[in-house]
Amino acid sequence: MPLTADEQVLRHDVIVLGGGLAGMRAALEAARGGADVAVVSKVYPTRSHSAAAQGGINAAFSAEDSWEKHAFDTVKGSDYLGDQDAIEVLCREALQDIMELEHMGVIFNRNEDGRLALRPFGGAGFPRTCYVADITGQAILHVVWEQLVKARITCYAEWVATSLVVQDGRCRGLVALEMRSGKLHTLEAKAVVLATGGLGRIYEPSTNGLICTGDGMALAYRAGAALMDMEFTQFHPTTLYPSGVLITEGARGEGGYLLNSKGERFMATYASQRLELASRDVVSRAEQTEIEEGRGVNGCVLLDVRHLGKKVILTRLYQIYELAHDLAGVDLLEEPVPVRPGTHYQMGGVKTDVDGRTSMPGLYAAGECACVSVHGANRLGGNSLLETVVFGRRAGKAAAEEVRQVPFAGLSSAPGRDEHAHITELLQRGERGGLRSAVVRKEMGNAMREGAGVFRDSEGLAQTLETVRGLKGRYQKVAVQDKGGIFNTDLVSLLELGNMLDLAETMVVGGLARQESRGAHFRRDFPERDDINWLRHTLAFYTAEGPRLEYAPVTCVRWQPERRTY
Ligand SMILES: Cc1cc2nc3c(=O)[nH]c(=O)nc-3n(C[C@H](O)[C@H](O)[C@H](O)COP(=O)(O)OP(=O)(O)OC[C@H]3O[C@@H](n4cnc5c(N)ncnc54)[C@H](O)[C@@H]3O)c2cc1C
Repeated sequence: MPLTADEQVLRHDVIVLGGGLAGMRAALEAARGGADVAVVSKVYPTRSHSAAAQGGINAAFSAEDSWEKHAFDTVKGSDYLGDQDAIEVLCREALQDIMELEHMGVIFNRNEDGRLALRPFGGAGFPRTCYVADITGQAILHVVWEQLVKARITCYAEWVATSLVVQDGRCRGLVALEMRSGKLHTLEAKAVVLATGGLGRIYEPSTNGLICTGDGMALAYRAGAALMDMEFTQFHPTTLYPSGVLITEGARGEGGYLLNSKGERFMATYASQRLELASRDVVSRAEQTEIEEGRGVNGCVLLDVRHLGKKVILTRLYQIYELAHDLAGVDLLEEPVPVRPGTHYQMGGVKTDVDGRTSMPGLYAAGECACVSVHGANRLGGNSLLETVVFGRRAGKAAAEEVRQVPFAGLSSAPGRDEHAHITELLQRGERGGLRSAVVRKEMGNAMREGAGVFRDSEGLAQTLETVRGLKGRYQKVAVQDKGGIFNTDLVSLLELGNMLDLAETMVVGGLARQESRGAHFRRDFPERDDINWLRHTLAFYTAEGPRLEYAPVTCVRWQPERRTY
């Protein structure tokens, strides 16, 4: 069956692109606001990466804690690059949003007295991470999905969006490939909410699912919207070797130790107060330093949870117990597991305001694909799930309100037909047996890890940029072996690779330009934070020659930048 273009245009007031937690929350709120909503997702929604979240979601529930303390920790964690007005919204509204999840039916762990249990997380002054063992994302996502089913929200599952439709500067919908039929559909909307998640797969390896390829960011970027702070990628301190699969921060939150080859709890040297629970950028750099200075164990350090005892491990950390067993052959009850820093999360994304509005009318964004910015240069564990529900809800509400005033433009199926012509060309390109997208993808991933990793410098970044640009050239020659229309995953991989290459370029160009060290962006050639010149956001705009950078001020409301220690 060949690829075809559908002549019929599908119309919904609001189309939410992405069925993860941000997308579901946005869709639910837009429907509550009276809009006719549809969710488009390249996987069945409950298979989104949100389902992989392990450790928990933050809110200042304990009596000694307050949303202001949560906000301060987040500002400090962001290395002062987070916008404090947005962080205030995140931390203030956290309580109500988590209570709502609880009322929907999320079975959060509880204390003996029946209150929500809270675990300490990195960079947090108080235990404030609500959790469901170490499967928090899955537990929340499935419960919110029930709400979407109950609200009878239309869902186009296994539809891959390939481009946004923009008319007279306004986003009017999108084109998506229905994998099952090989049909390209034109979908018209009065507003589109991007909720397409992260881009971790630009790196090799990564904690992210194979579907985390930054599609929405790339679609928005090519359509003319601004990307913000793309040079800030988080490296999580505890990922398995060699797969890159995540071991939750909850393991350290519950009291796990990090050890070097001499058996020392080396974090004492780097963060004398918070030790293993310093923020992620600090712990990742400490591990990398231990490894580079010869105190590692086969390119790793060791995570030891044995002293927590069988009961804690098998009840609150059972997923990582299984992961360590199945993927590293380690029994966590008996021995420590080798871990190393790995790519985990993208702080940057499509620039939005606190209601999800991007720089393009009619286009909203929320969740990991957006940059509000609440994470600045480094995200705190547990704040990302929180961001998806707080800003997903706000974006859905704002979109539903806006569309009451906006008429449909009356799109024809031309965008779908144009995309059909373009993709048919891609399919015809190259010979069977030619260059495969997986080869280019791997080279990109290795280059990004080596040149744009935990530690960076101008030489390595420049080399990575050259490699990425070279790969963009080679991308033009990648052949799609499967010429058919039905479930053509080979074609989808090619489209995803194109998105990742465009984004990788913005990450490296932004990183080269930022001549300072802040949060996760650590330049060996500029090891200090430079607030005079660099307390500002990087904006990246698409041009055919590569990203054009601009800068925007950071909003500081309450807290002025200070030296950051843990
Ligand atoms: C292993 C792991 C553990 C984590 N643990 C935690 C944690 O404990 N606490 C925490 O706060 N954060 C955690 N995070 C981060 C957090 O889970 C994510 O940032 C968050 O869930 C992202 O949600 P999202 O809705 O923005 O995107 P996702 O859940 O990634 O959903 C993206 C959606 O977009 C759709 N999509 C993408 N591209 C297209 C396209 N082209 N066409 C159609 N649909 C598309 C996908 O199908 C999917 O439905 C973790 C992340 C990982 C990887």
